[in-house]
Amino acid sequence: MRALVLRRFGGEPDLETMADPEAGPGEVVVDVAACGVGLTTRNCLRGDLGDDPGLLPVVPGHELVGVVSAVGPGVDGDLVGQTVTAHFYLFCGRCRRCLTAQEPLCPHGLGLIGVQRDGGLAERVALPARNLVRLPAGLDPVDATVVPDAVATPVHVAARAGITTGDRVAVVGAGGGVGAHMVQVAAAHGAAVAGLDVDPSKLAFLADELGVAAVDAARLEGAALPAAWGGMADVVVDFVGTPSSAGWALDHLDAGGRLVVLTTFPGVAAAVAQRQLVFGQLSVLGSRYASRAELEAAADLVVSGRVRPVIGERTGLDGAPRLLERLGRNEVLGRGAVVVAPAGTGA
Ligand SMILES: [Zn+2]
Repeated sequence: MRALVLRRFGGEPDLETMADPEAGPGEVVVDVAACGVGLTTRNCLRGDLGDDPGLLPVVPGHELVGVVSAVGPGVDGDLVGQTVTAHFYLFCGRCRRCLTAQEPLCPHGLGLIGVQRDGGLAERVALPARNLVRLPAGLDPVDATVVPDAVATPVHVAARAGITTGDRVAVVGAGGGVGAHMVQVAAAHGAAVAGLDVDPSKLAFLADELGVAAVDAARLEGAALPAAWGGMADVVVDFVGTPSSAGWALDHLDAGGRLVVLTTFPGVAAAVAQRQLVFGQLSVLGSRYASRAELEAAADLVVSGRVRPVIGERTGLDGAPRLLERLGRNEVLGRGAVVVAPAGTGA
């Protein structure tokens, strides 16, 4: 089969031919229809989420959508033919965390799809059956690539921050792959939403297509939230993750506000003044991916039309290396999608 193969963390993957995967015990093989790519994929390539050379070579890509074509020992054969996506994390499925919808916190976790085992930027991928999430009928496979991360992650953020009707939610990095869906998930919860970005075309998209208050953050220190909000927010979701973005966020939270952080850049730390947290009774919340149940909720949001997939570029496996490079330069609106099996062929 054809697959994108990474041979050095910090390098770029190349299209190669490799042996088809087989389903081991508890596993399935998925014929990939499409796989989303975003900045998390780039973090994986860079080695930020695991850089042991023993993991190489590896096929990147975790936002896969496809059809189950084979099952291994111990797996229900009825899965064959089902259209599925996959939970990003490798989890045990039996511990207290896994049984209470906190799979990303599983202490027995074995890593991530696309880092610690081969991912979906390939024609086929073998995965643990417990990772599968069935997709509702009527969802286009390319559109569905936003479900397992770009929409599921915001669904979890909304739960972490308790986003509810009337909240003022500011999203820093709103034109990116997760940000463009975060603004929609917040709106679906009844919030008023502002999106900050530095790219004029992304700001225009946020305002014209998604109907959120677009805030030019080219000079972050001067970025102002809507006057109707009193310039303050109840929730700030920070996808940029620098000391200055965290500082801006804390300075723009109204009393009782919540800052949600999601970035995992090694060595980055922001200073927090305890008195600021106390006087404003502010909360700083880490949000780590999503549960399997939240992937199902994300699929419902997309298939019902409440969240519109924002896929700025799509290409075939041949074009995937170039798309990944453009993502690294923040040149892609929303998510990218690699279409592996065009509709009507193969699976
Ligand atoms: Zn577990």
